[in-house]
Parts: sequence; structure tokens; C-alpha cells
Amino acid sequence: MSPRQKLQMPVLDRFRLHGRRAFVTGASRGIGRAIAIALAESGADVALAARDEARLTELAAEIETLGRRAHVVPLDLANLEAIAPAIDAAADELGGLDLLVNNAGVSHRGGFEIHDPAEFDRMYDINLGAVLFGCQAARPHLAAAGGGAIVNIGSIAGTKGAGLYGASKAGVHALTRGFSREYANDGIRVVALAPGQVITDMTAHVRANPSELNAILHHTARGRAADPEEIAAAVVYLASPAAGFVTGTTIAIDGGRDFFARR
Ligand code: NAP
Repeated sequence: MSPRQKLQMPVLDRFRLHGRRAFVTGASRGIGRAIAIALAESGADVALAARDEARLTELAAEIETLGRRAHVVPLDLANLEAIAPAIDAAADELGGLDLLVNNAGVSHRGGFEIHDPAEFDRMYDINLGAVLFGCQAARPHLAAAGGGAIVNIGSIAGTKGAGLYGASKAGVHALTRGFSREYANDGIRVVALAPGQVITDMTAHVRANPSELNAILHHTARGRAADPEEIAAAVVYLASPAAGFVTGTTIAIDGGRDFFARR
């Protein structure tokens, strides 16, 4: 169907993902789990990647009750060589691939303070290396499916924050811009999301520290943290034909977080 024919569909039909096949990293919990469920609810079959196989198996069963196929991919993304074989196997299992969501990530609380090069390597391998190798591995599958999309989960820390974590996420935003150009001739769109504070395991330490949480919320127009589902809804949009003109950019979903405080 041509882009013009798609535009003649009723608007909500342009958000549907029936027949699409997605690969989601970090699907075992938090934002990735919400993304996998939202994609399945929108009609997609989903490959679920993370280390915790038991949680992925439980999620796969939940997705199958929605009438969608789910493929469990036990994967440690710090092992960059394992990524391409895992994506190839998932594409075989699902009969192709239309969407890659590079969601998995790890945080680092020490600003720019780090003394163990192995710890630095591990964080950058997961946050940046796995995104790079994931995009490269998915490209031929997405191209063969006629285009599709890659959604990378960056962070407000990569646009307005600092520290080693923020630098790794700024790298994700930069890769997103670069790949959107490199993959354009294959019809592949590449977009990043920059969430603000989201209620997941990653931010449990913030919720345990009221002064840190209040400082964040004071600078967030919405005055609260997001639920993972509020990030997942944007992934559905970006994956869908409704977002056909969106590529090469980073979209903030941060509740209006800024230098300016709430009144
Ligand atoms: P989370 O609750 O800590 O979940 C992280 C996910 O990544 C889990 O599914 C985890 O699965 C997976 N993961 C971590 N290390 C992995 C590895 N070595 N190999 C494979 N999978 C791995 O984090 P989240 O808050 O949902 O974060 C998801 C993404 O959003 C991350 O990229 C994060 O940086 C970004 N983000 C989060 C926030 C926030 O406020 N929460 C804000 C901005 C951006 P296993 O443990 O099963 O491997």
C-alpha cells in the first residue's frame, strides 16, 4: 500500500500493527515489558529479549492470550556477538521482522566517576554497543520486509542531563540520527525516545529518596513520574504507518521536565 493510500485510511487504522513482527530488548520488566504488551495489543507478534528467561516466558504466555505470537530470546546484550544470531533466529521464527526496539539499558549513579574499565565497558556495551549491533543485525530483515522502523530508547539524561549514563544515551541519540540517513534508502525509519522519570526498577532508588524525587518532580510540569505504558504508547505510534514521516529525531516524553520549576 502506498503512503498516499495509507493516509486515506481512518486515522486509528493507521496505528494498527497487525501482521507486524517486532524484536524488543529488555522485555522482561519495566518499559520494555510495557512496550511488548502494547505492540501485541496493537496486533504485532513479538520476540522478547532479556536475560531473565522465566519472566520472558511468563510474558510470552500473556501475549499469547492476546492472540499474538511471542518468541522468547534469552540474551545477555553485554555479549555483542550474540546479538545478530539472536535477531536472525527471531526473524526466522516470526517469518521476518518489521520493527526493532532497542530498549534495554543500565544506569550509572556516579556522575563521571568510574574506576573499573570493565564496568565502563559493560555499561557502554549494553547502552550503546547493543544498540549499534542491534540496528546492523536488524537492517537486512527490515529491508526485506519493505522498510519498517527502529525505535531506540534514549533518555532525557542524554539531552538535558550529564554523567556517564547521559553520555551513553547522547550516543544513542546520535546513532539514531546517523542510521536514519544510512538506512533511508531501505525505507527504514530510525527514531529515539527520551523518557523522563519513569516508575520502574531502574528508578527505585529515586523513589526511596524523597528529596531526590521531589527535586525532579519540582522541575516536571506534570508533577509526577510516568508509568511505563506512557512510553509504550509512543512506541506504538512510531512503529506504525501513522508515523511515516518521522525519522532521525529524538522525541522527549518527560512530562515537561526543564530548568524552570513548577509554580
Ligand atoms: P529496568 O526496569 O531496569 O529494566 C531494564 C531492562 O533491560 C530489563 O528488562 C533487563 O532485563 C534488561 N537488561 C539489562 N541488562 C541487560 C543485559 N545485559 N542483557 C539483556 N537485557 C538486559 O529499566 P527501565 O526503566 O525499564 O529502562 C528501560 C530503558 O529506558 C533503558 O534503556 C533506560 O536507560 C531507559 N530509560 C529509563 C528511564 C526511567 O526513568 N526508568 C528514563 C529514561 C530512559 P534482564 O535483567 O532480564 O536482563
